[in-house]
Amino acid sequence: MRTGICLAILLAANSQAATLCEVARLDRLPVCIETAGGVILAINTPEAEALGAAAESARPIFRVRFGRDAPRYAVVQNEASAEEIGRLKDNGFPVVLPLPSKADLIAQIEIQVRSAVEEQLPEASDAEIDSLVAEIVDRQVAAVSGVAIVAHELGHLWLQETFWPGASSVEGQYGGPAPDWLEEVAAVVMETELLSERRRAAFFEIWQQGLSFDLAAFFAMEHPAKLTADAARKAGRAIVKVGSAADGPDIDAFYAKSRVFADFLIDVTDQEILASIAEAAAQGSSMEQWLAAQGNERGLPSDLKSLELAWREWVTSVYGPPG
Ligand SMILES: [Zn+2]
Repeated sequence: MRTGICLAILLAANSQAATLCEVARLDRLPVCIETAGGVILAINTPEAEALGAAAESARPIFRVRFGRDAPRYAVVQNEASAEEIGRLKDNGFPVVLPLPSKADLIAQIEIQVRSAVEEQLPEASDAEIDSLVAEIVDRQVAAVSGVAIVAHELGHLWLQETFWPGASSVEGQYGGPAPDWLEEVAAVVMETELLSERRRAAFFEIWQQGLSFDLAAFFAMEHPAKLTADAARKAGRAIVKVGSAADGPDIDAFYAKSRVFADFLIDVTDQEILASIAEAAAQGSSMEQWLAAQGNERGLPSDLKSLELAWREWVTSVYGPPG
């Protein structure tokens, strides 16, 4: 009998608690699905499920790399207004990821591809350029679809919300308080193994070309996509930059370096090295200060110059001597 009463109370309590989708739903998007770590608001169920699977593939990685549960997320297709983002945040979704609509994505990519094609083929006719642009855009849209970018973008937002809680994510990731290199590392380590292998292959090419890669500059550098991100933000658009050929070599190289530098740190130290660096950064420490305080106990040198040497040695052991 007691069990019966308890069960009745439990059921009553449950029926009063709104589900995540009841809280999150937006009228303009017909589908909402709940995942273990949040919700997906989408235009149809197959896309919602694919996005949910991508988000959930990243969540355990965040737990391992940053030693914390990923904050609850809402992934929203077809952009999200500042008001919608604010409402979701107020209702228990501290991380809100708006994704561009397919039409917007195509338009953004087309602008970048067209200017690259026109520059490279100044003699080509308009018709030739149109058909080449259409072909390249088709290929690239698939590569930067929501499913391909969701884990990466959640990495940015989770880092910010976990270590700089309350800092505005509406402003977009590259304006976040974390150093740009750490932001990008947090994003690329969330990606699939397939994408990670592509980043490593791109790094191998950079290394073989003998292009210099100075860690001090890497720690200080501004994200090469910052200008694009600023422009997108001003236009009220979602920021989507994950490195495709259309992004240009600087941005591709930045992702590749971020991925392999993360590999180095994880390989020579421990699983939670990024959590330690992020914690220190959130308290205002530079990488140099962090190294001096924690480098030795984590199995790294205690200054930047020696870190540079250790890094070059490690890269040489994995990728061969620089070209
Ligand atoms: Zn990124």
